[in-house]
Amino acid sequence: MNIPQIKKIYDISLPLYDGMITYPNNTPFSVTERTVSSGSILAEIIIGSHTGTHTDSPRHQGCGDVNVDDYALTHYVGDAVVIDCSHRGPGEVVEVSDVQDYDISGKRVLLKTSNSGRGFAQFYDDFVALGGDTATYLRNQEVVLVGIDALSVKKRGGEDNRAHTELLEKQIPIIEGLDLSSVSEGEYFLTAAPLSIKESEGAPLRALLLEF
Ligand SMILES: [Zn+2]
Repeated sequence: MNIPQIKKIYDISLPLYDGMITYPNNTPFSVTERTVSSGSILAEIIIGSHTGTHTDSPRHQGCGDVNVDDYALTHYVGDAVVIDCSHRGPGEVVEVSDVQDYDISGKRVLLKTSNSGRGFAQFYDDFVALGGDTATYLRNQEVVLVGIDALSVKKRGGEDNRAHTELLEKQIPIIEGLDLSSVSEGEYFLTAAPLSIKESEGAPLRALLLEF
């Protein structure tokens, strides 16, 4: 088997640490270590299903019974397109016009906004989210996954929840909490398998973009 040489690996996940940001009311991350009698060090890790870089399944938003472990891993592993929407600033959403010139059908679409440039050291209420019409457009393009560099695809405080529901009703999983600051627009190979938690409506994952 001929395995292509990997030129570069981009880690587009948020590091997990005590004191990291979460979406308001989500479980904070923590690690507590203890040394047992044999001298080994063991840690207890506390994490929410939507803490850090993670995926949403339809059941998370009441869009049916599908959990993360019901998805084929092919949703999370394969060809991906990073679309640079960095011109969308605080309080804005990714619009249809930002994504309609790209060949995304059957691919994984990752949306880079000004959120990545602003960083993730603190939580901003006015983070750039996915517009409802854009979610409908992506759904109609039959993309297999949508990722964004925000802890929610939905605009904070907004009434319109189509950013979640348009995708999840069509069984298109969402990745939230990506950090795309080190990645330019273009085509990559994504590997972002969620933790294999049984019957969970969401799950943390490690997202990597490979360049061949
Ligand atoms: Zn989520």
